[in-house]
Amino acid sequence: MYLLNKIKNKLQGNYIKRSWPGLINAYKQYLPVSSKTPIISLNEGNTPLIFSESLSNLIGSNTKVYLKYDGLNPTGSFKDRGMTMAISKAKEEGCQAVICASTGNTSASAAAYASRGKLKSYVLIPDGYVAQGKLAQALMYGAEIISIKGNFDKALEIVRDLSTKYPITLVNSVNPYRIQGQKTAAFEIVDDLGFAPEWLCIPMGNAGNITAYWMGFKEYSKIKRNLKLPIMMGFQSEGSAPLVKNIIVQDPETIATAIRIGNPVNREKAKIVKKESKGDFQSVTDEDIIKAYKKLAEEGIFCEPASAASVAGLIKNKNRIKKGSTIVCVLTGNGLKDPDCAIKNNDAIFRNNVEPSLKEITKILKY
Ligand SMILES: *Cc1c(COP(=O)(O)O)cnc(C)c1O
Repeated sequence: MYLLNKIKNKLQGNYIKRSWPGLINAYKQYLPVSSKTPIISLNEGNTPLIFSESLSNLIGSNTKVYLKYDGLNPTGSFKDRGMTMAISKAKEEGCQAVICASTGNTSASAAAYASRGKLKSYVLIPDGYVAQGKLAQALMYGAEIISIKGNFDKALEIVRDLSTKYPITLVNSVNPYRIQGQKTAAFEIVDDLGFAPEWLCIPMGNAGNITAYWMGFKEYSKIKRNLKLPIMMGFQSEGSAPLVKNIIVQDPETIATAIRIGNPVNREKAKIVKKESKGDFQSVTDEDIIKAYKKLAEEGIFCEPASAASVAGLIKNKNRIKKGSTIVCVLTGNGLKDPDCAIKNNDAIFRNNVEPSLKEITKILKY
C-alpha cells in the first residue's frame, strides 16, 4: 500500500505542474528572442488538448479526435500566441504604437498586449461585422477603434499602407513574429501526444495560423527525429473561400466572421503548406459550421463559429480517414466571443415568465 501510494504520488507529481511562464519563456530556445527582449506576456499558451469522445465515435474506425482549445488563451483566441511575440519585439525595437486590421480577435489581443506593454494601439474594424464580445474587449483594453465602412480586406490595405509611411508597427499576421509565436501551438500538441497527429484540421482566414502550425511541426521534426508530419487540412466557409477556389472573393459572407476574408495575405505560404503536407483546402457551408458548433457544445465545448469550421471539415471527410488515425481539430476562439450567434443558434428549451411556485415548476419538470 505504501509503495502504491508512493508510485501514485510520483505519477501525480508528474502531472501537477503549476506556474506556466507563458509561451515565450517556455519555448524561448525556438523563438527569435534574446536576453534583451522585454517579454510582454499574459501567460498565454499551454491550452488543453481535449479528447472528444463524440467526434471519435462519429468518425469511427478507431479514430481518436482531439480538440486543441485555443479559445482558452488570455483574450480568448489563439491570436494571443502571436501577439505576445509581436508586442514584445515591437517593444524591443523601441516602437510606441501598434496598428491592425481585424475581424475582432486580433484587435482584442493587440489591445490587451499593447496595454500590458504600455504601447498605444489602433484597430481598424469592418463596420457591423465584429462580434460583441470582441468589441467589448477592444473597448476595455483601451484601443483606439476605427470602424470603417468597408470589409476586413479594405481595412488591411489601409493599415499596411500606414505602417510603411509612419512609425507604427503592424501586428497583423504579415508581421513575421506573429507566426513565430503561433507555431508554439504545434509544439504543445506534440508535447502532449508524444507525436504529431495524422491530420490537423484548422479554419483559414488570412491563413497565418495554418502557416504557423506547419512551421512548428517542421521545426519540431528537426529536433525530435522520427516525428512524422501531419496532413494539413484547411477549411473555409463556402461564402468566403478564396483559398479553396484560388480567387479573390470581393464580398465574402459567412456567419463565421473571424474568417470572413476575401483576399488572404498568407495565400502563397498557405499553398506551400498544402503542397508540402499533401493536404487539402475545402469549404464547408454555414449550416455545416453551425451543426459542428452545436455538436461541440453538446460535449461541453463552446467555441466560436469560425473555430467550428475545423470540426465541420473533419466530419465532411469522415470517409477519407485512415483507420486508427489521431486527428487534431484546432478550436481557434472561445464561444463567449460571439454571444449573438449562440443565442440565435441553439436547440435549448428556454421558458420565460414562469410563476415562481413549486407547483408550476414541478409541472414543468414533469415529476
Ligand atoms: C483569426 C482567426 C481565424 C483565422 O486565422 P488565420 O490565421 O487568419 O487563418 C480563425 N478563427 C478565429 C477564431 C480567429 O480569430
